[in-house]
Parts: sequence; structure tokens; C-alpha cells
Amino acid sequence: MITEQIALVSRPKGFPTLNNFKFEDIELPDIQADQVLLKGWYYSVDPYMRGRMNDTKSYSPPFQVNQPIEGGVIASVVESKSGHFKPGDVVLGMLPWRKDIIASEKDIHQVDIKIVPAGYYLGILGMTGLTAYFGIMHIGKPKATDTVVISGAAGAVGIVAGQIAKIQGCRVIGITGSDEKVKTLIEEFGFDGAINYKTEIDIQKAVAALCPNGVDIYFDNVGGEISDAVINNLNFYARVVLCGQISLYNTIEAPMGPRIQPMLLTRSVLMQGFIVSNFQSQFPEGISQLGKWVKAGKLRFTETIIHGFDQLPTALLELFKGKNTGKMIVEA
Ligand code: NAP
Repeated sequence: MITEQIALVSRPKGFPTLNNFKFEDIELPDIQADQVLLKGWYYSVDPYMRGRMNDTKSYSPPFQVNQPIEGGVIASVVESKSGHFKPGDVVLGMLPWRKDIIASEKDIHQVDIKIVPAGYYLGILGMTGLTAYFGIMHIGKPKATDTVVISGAAGAVGIVAGQIAKIQGCRVIGITGSDEKVKTLIEEFGFDGAINYKTEIDIQKAVAALCPNGVDIYFDNVGGEISDAVINNLNFYARVVLCGQISLYNTIEAPMGPRIQPMLLTRSVLMQGFIVSNFQSQFPEGISQLGKWVKAGKLRFTETIIHGFDQLPTALLELFKGKNTGKMIVEA
């Protein structure tokens, strides 16, 4: 059968453009033993994919030029030569950006869409929810008296990280890129305060004003000048959870920031980077706890759903313009 795929055609320098992608028809072979034919349904776009567009060594391998982009995909089984899956099953896997996908049974697992909407398995009960959970609980180690600041607060990871910190009894302040997102964080997601970094002239002072007792945990999704401003407000024994550095993903030359080591040293601060897969063996614990909080109504979630397979590259690029609130997903 013929299907459409989206491939990387060139590696971006700086901000990616639609010209870095190409749409093409390809012929799929018949499925073999232990394989299934899938129809793509929900496709995840994530900031880490920008790193995979570069030809540099990282925790996940670079995308290959002229090969399809791959990422988290929810798909339904159309045809099966696997004893584990039957037509109609809904599965999740790291799969190529194709409308129709052949997958080996070992690369997918079934998800139950009767419990939660399918998209949740790409967000709150998937990679981004787990990132928030392990970052806050295992690295931040919150106490009820702590003040927690989250950058990238209205995104997929940030919105969950903030709510988990609230569940732990903390005061939680978000930093995000619009007044609407500030309002959403406070009114819908229970943040105690939020700052619009695009209009706030002095972020360091704004953080100090909202965190009169200083900052005990900084969950950093963005890096750059926003983080410089937060780090100047850290308390003794603060923990900095280095989750992402999105403000730097499209820079061509690494910008020079203030030397933060004296501050970390003199205030006995712990700063730890992590990749969610560091916690792979504890994923069942994370999924179980996130699921319980969702079921109990303590953890809420939101998605920005873009419609149309052809919108995938645009949706990926728009992550870097703050188009999304919560998890950005493309529905085919
Ligand atoms: P996301 O926050 O849902 O989407 C990206 C958001 O980042 C945008 O909505 C935008 O919101 C903000 N942003 C974009 N460019 C920015 C800039 N130059 N400065 C400040 N903010 C900017 O994405 P996510 O999936 O939740 O990921 C959040 C961060 O966590 C990313 O850095 C990602 O790489 C990282 N991450 C790490 C792991 C891990 O294992 N360590 C796993 C998943 C994600 P605004 O409107 O607020 O600007």
C-alpha cells in the first residue's frame, strides 16, 4: 500500500523551518510475522525532537536525513500477524511520522482508552507526566514548607510539575509566556502566583516578590536568562531540577551567562540534570501515582490538539513560540 511520511531533509541551523521537512509517498511492504499494520491517530511533538535534528551525540540518536521523523504515536491496529494484538486495539510506541505504520509487536504496547482519553498516554500518563513526577518527587524532594518555582510552567511538563508540588503542600509559582497562561495557571491549575516573562521587566524582582521566603526548589524547563533570575533567589539547601533548556535549543552559539557556581556553593545548592529514562525501572510507580491523582481529581491536565497529519512540522515548530498550553499533540 502507498502511505505518506514526513522526513527530515536538512538539518536546521538555529530556528528550524518547514523547509527542513518533506512530505513524500512511500510504498509499504506486506506485514510479516509478529508485525502489525497501524493507522496513526495522535502524534506527539516534543522539544527534545529539536536536538535530534542536529547531528550531535546525545541521549537519543539524531534523526537521519531523508528518513522519517519519529516520536511518540498513538495508533490503532488495522491488521495483525502478532499473537498479542488484534484489529481495533489502540497502541503506543516510538514510531515514524507516517499515516500508516508497520510496527513490530516488541515496539508497541496497548493502552486502555476506556479509562482516560488516548492523548493522555502522550502527556500526563506518558513521558511528560513521568518527567514532572520524577523531577519533582525524586530530585526536588519537596517538603510542605517549600516554595517551588517552575519555568515553562504552562507546558506539558510544567503544568503537571506545579500541581504535584501543590499536592505536596508547597507554595508554587510559575513562569510562562503570556497573560492568558498566567491566568490559567492560577485559576485552573491552583498555582499560587505566576509571572509573564515576556512582559515582566525584572524577573528576579518579580520572583522575589512572589517568593518572600526565597526559592527552595527550582524546576527548570527553559534555562537562559529566566533561570539566571530565579537562581539569584535560591535559599540555602535549595534544589535545582534541570529538566530542560528550551530557550537554548535554537541558539547557534552558546550564550555566556553569569557564573552561578559561587551562588550554588555558598548556599549549598544541589543542581541535578536528568533524563526521564534514568527512572525507567520506576515507571510503574510513577504511572500508578499519576493515575491515582488523576482519578482523585487532584491532578488536572490540558492539551493543545492540532488537527491534520500535515500540521506535524508546524506543531513542532510552534512549541518554540509558546503556541501550546499543556501537551501539544497532533490528531491525524
Ligand atoms: P512544553 O513546555 O509543553 O512546550 C514548550 C514551551 O516552552 C512553550 O509552550 C513555551 O511556553 C516555552 N518556550 C518556548 N521557547 C521558549 C524560550 N525561548 N524561553 C522560555 N520559554 C520558552 O514542552 P514540554 O514537553 O513540557 O517540555 C518542557 C521542557 O522539558 C523542555 O525544555 C523539554 O526539552 C524538557 N523535557 C525534559 C525531559 C527530560 O527527560 N529531562 C522530558 C521531557 C521534556 P511559553 O509560552 O511559556 O513561552
